[in-house]
Amino acid sequence: MEKYTSTRDKDVEISAFDAIIKGFSDDGGLFVLPDLADHNINIDKVIDQSYQEIAFDVVKTLLPDFSDFQIANSIHEAYDDSFDDYEITPIKDVDNFSVLELFHGPTCAFKDVGLQLLPKLMQQCLPENKHVMVLAATSGDTGTAALAGFKDVNKMGAMVFYPQNGVSMVQQQQMLTTKGYNTKVAAINGNFDDAQTNVKKIFNNQSLKKKLGDDNSLSSANSINIGRLVPQIVYYFDAYKQMVKNGKINVGDEIIFTVPTGNFGDVLAGYYAKLLGLPVKKLVIECNSNKVLADFFKNGVYDRNRPFFKTIAPSMDIQISSNFERLLYYKSGENVDYVKSLMDDLEHDGKYEVLPEILESIKEDFICGYSDDDEIKASIKEVFEKYHYLMDPHTASGYRVTRETQAKYPDTPVVMLSTASPYKFVDAVADAIIGEHRESPIETSDLLVEKTGIEMPEQLRQIWHDEAVVPTKINPNEMEDLVVDTIKDVFENDKSNSARN
Ligand SMILES: *Cc1c(COP(=O)(O)O)cnc(C)c1O
Repeated sequence: MEKYTSTRDKDVEISAFDAIIKGFSDDGGLFVLPDLADHNINIDKVIDQSYQEIAFDVVKTLLPDFSDFQIANSIHEAYDDSFDDYEITPIKDVDNFSVLELFHGPTCAFKDVGLQLLPKLMQQCLPENKHVMVLAATSGDTGTAALAGFKDVNKMGAMVFYPQNGVSMVQQQQMLTTKGYNTKVAAINGNFDDAQTNVKKIFNNQSLKKKLGDDNSLSSANSINIGRLVPQIVYYFDAYKQMVKNGKINVGDEIIFTVPTGNFGDVLAGYYAKLLGLPVKKLVIECNSNKVLADFFKNGVYDRNRPFFKTIAPSMDIQISSNFERLLYYKSGENVDYVKSLMDDLEHDGKYEVLPEILESIKEDFICGYSDDDEIKASIKEVFEKYHYLMDPHTASGYRVTRETQAKYPDTPVVMLSTASPYKFVDAVADAIIGEHRESPIETSDLLVEKTGIEMPEQLRQIWHDEAVVPTKINPNEMEDLVVDTIKDVFENDKSNSARN
């Protein structure tokens, strides 16, 4: 059976099962499958398959440890009932480009696609009597989708830490109304980095591991987990299928995808699709004002030493795009020593510079651009007024770049990935369209529905009818104790449940 290895140490050999449970490698690297381009997904076959059937082939190719039965079961549980569109990720035509809507899952952001399947896969990898608690520091979307995905999944649990004043009212309400017997939400007296730093500390704390015992382990729901990345490859193939079905392209024609980017998970999944044989001409990386990647494309220097901007597309407010490390691994010819030296530079100096030939090779597959907040708002307004299509700010960060790309490649169809429902980031969307928003998100949403005639997803309306739990409020240095207590509560309970069954 093929093994995963680490981006920083080629002596690491680990099964797909263990890679999913562990999340990331002890050397700090990410788990990768060597020689990815030797694998292939048959495009002719994809054209006649359902989303679930495509997902089956992708998972089977990249996570070879799973049996057919385990894969099929996981996929049906993840997607059959939890999305509000039977296509799962439907394509809509807007003017002369198409939009791939990735926000039809339970929390209305694209992270549902990965986080509905990850828990089901993880559950299959768990040896008997083992329990896994997933920890996530979140600026909003990841936490919400992780809670929805792990809620009430046997032998597992999820703990989410969010900065007390750092998430939107909609996101907070979503987290506090997603109640599982095995989930816990904590509001941190600090910012996102405080939460993130402490989650990392907890992962690396060896004495804590001892304290939790052999039966209980910790894992990550971040997109560095390969079990979250693999499900995202599926919608690139499914989009291609829909483009063929809609008569936009013939099988074999190249297309361009534009992708709102933060941690580089979504767009990397597109690159994996290309390596697996999908005819992709270019992948367009879209940034907001935190444009570390856009600057990298100019001179090959990745430099996070710069001011941090809080933008209206907050899920892209990231200065270290963790999954970029996986791209460097493949683009350097799987040269783990080279990748490790770059990552050491990043840790010590906050920056690194790649060799010119590596930058050139990256540019063969990728283009990068960005939009600031004013441009994002202008794009939302323009696309609504001209084409009656409503974009969220993350999606809109790519509109300007999409138009530039079309001008450069007029003969290649463009698919713009849409990562969230406009009603999830309703304040910014209302500001762009109406010029104002209200104190209450539900009032703002009603205004926007009235103005645009575009319906709000039922999932987002429902949260205001559900009873919210009171979040546990803690200081960052209390996170570890909360993890220990929660694991005890949840998994002891779990054991008595299974004894009863
Ligand atoms: C997480 C997120 C992104 C960024 O995706 P990455 O995989 O981190 O690059 C973009 N838009 C929305 C709405 C998100 O939640």
